[in-house]
Amino acid sequence: MAQITLFGSDGQISENLPERCLCCGRASTLTKTLTFSWFSRWLWLLCLVHPFIFVLTAFFLQRKMSLTAPLCGEHRIPWFWRNVIVTLFLGIFVGALVVLANVTNKTIDAKGMPTRLDSLTIMSALISCLLMLLMPIAIMLAMILIGPGAAYIDKNRLVLKNVSNGFVNAVVDMHREQSKFERGTGEERITTSPKTD
Ligand SMILES: [Zn+2]
Repeated sequence: MAQITLFGSDGQISENLPERCLCCGRASTLTKTLTFSWFSRWLWLLCLVHPFIFVLTAFFLQRKMSLTAPLCGEHRIPWFWRNVIVTLFLGIFVGALVVLANVTNKTIDAKGMPTRLDSLTIMSALISCLLMLLMPIAIMLAMILIGPGAAYIDKNRLVLKNVSNGFVNAVVDMHREQSKFERGTGEERITTSPKTD
């Protein structure tokens, strides 16, 4: 997997892209508009303060850039596995919350007196807490490591990471051809400029 810088403006990549799948480098069979977002990695530290503060800050500080991405049939949903993992861990989080709510109910009996919890209940509460702590880490890793993503975005640049070498090589070839062409037309312009004598 490799990294490439693409150029554009107004939140949209404007340069022509080769007919190579972003994910595997094989010949592309379709294009799809993908929107990438990026925020400084330091913001992840806010998770330690509170996940909600992190989500809110990241939402307002993120930068976005869209791209008409060439893809093959196999990668028509390039973020499929990332979505599977995020959904799975959100499900686990809800399950762990339900378990913890049940354990809390068991700590007092019908008369409102504290009860002694058996070891199985204590164990399930501990595992639930552990899974809830793991959730933000698992989601963060899935977002960073799986599928194409933005390594950096500014006003006119998108640095794409986790893209195929075949796609990157094809883009580099296109850039090279383009600069050759521009140099060529520049020279032509000089030689055909009107004489002043
Ligand atoms: Zn592909």
